[in-house]
Amino acid sequence: MNQTLQQPRRVERLVTGQRTSDGAGVKLTRVLTSDLQQRLDPFLMLDNFASDDPEDYGAGFPDHPHRGFETVTYMIEGRMRHRDSAGHEGLLRNGGVQWMTAGRGLVHSEMPEQENGRMEGFQLWLNLPASDKLRDPWYRDIASEEIPEFTTAEGVLVRVIAGQSQGVAGAVQRERTQPLYLDLHFPPGAIEFRQPLPAGHNAFLCVYRGQVEVLDAGGQATPVPRQSMAVLGQQGDGVVLRSAANGETPARALLIAGQPLREPIAQYGPFVMNTREQLLQAVQDFQSGRLG
Ligand code: MN
Repeated sequence: MNQTLQQPRRVERLVTGQRTSDGAGVKLTRVLTSDLQQRLDPFLMLDNFASDDPEDYGAGFPDHPHRGFETVTYMIEGRMRHRDSAGHEGLLRNGGVQWMTAGRGLVHSEMPEQENGRMEGFQLWLNLPASDKLRDPWYRDIASEEIPEFTTAEGVLVRVIAGQSQGVAGAVQRERTQPLYLDLHFPPGAIEFRQPLPAGHNAFLCVYRGQVEVLDAGGQATPVPRQSMAVLGQQGDGVVLRSAANGETPARALLIAGQPLREPIAQYGPFVMNTREQLLQAVQDFQSGRLG
């Protein structure tokens, strides 16, 4: 099916991820940093971890709390075990997703379950509306084979983690933020992919293999290099992407969009609330063991 778009969105700016570390010293690239939280509302953070060296990831993310938002962990390659204070446990592996709603809070660990080999994946933080920030925690482990996918006529494999694309509904839907989360695998060559985007939804593209271009209405291409993020402009009814012809590595990219909440964002580390008072309460609740 060919999607007709009247006004494709342009690249507003290109952002290079920041090298940092988190947890017990896991090296990662923070693609969506806190200064972009307002602009990319309802998304708060996107981390990309990718390394063949166990020194970079082996220490993992020991017990830590969360409150007020959702974490979406997408494992491209490797094995990560999570355990939480409610007694839940699961193993996230190649191509699988863990979607966790922290809600009023929990304490969990996310630990690599491998001593060598490659560990690669993403963790996205999706904000919750004020009315849901103290809801019951929830999570779902979605194995790779449970993620709906399809291949376009042009040969692009589309994995629909959330939202919908060309009539295929993703593994997770959220009414308020309406997140779209697509993992796009382009075949070699210069291949196009079009995705309509609702007006007013914030959207960005993160390329993790090869190179992808964003095409405007006149066919003008803005290249988005690997490990960088393109913030898409707010004007337009969708996005037209094209894999770069000269890349020897077939391109892969995440296309993420959502409806902004337009509520105040107050963050203190792993707690994201609306006010400073709510953050103090979260810290108090954690320190007194009320997060589990
Ligand atoms: Mn966590």
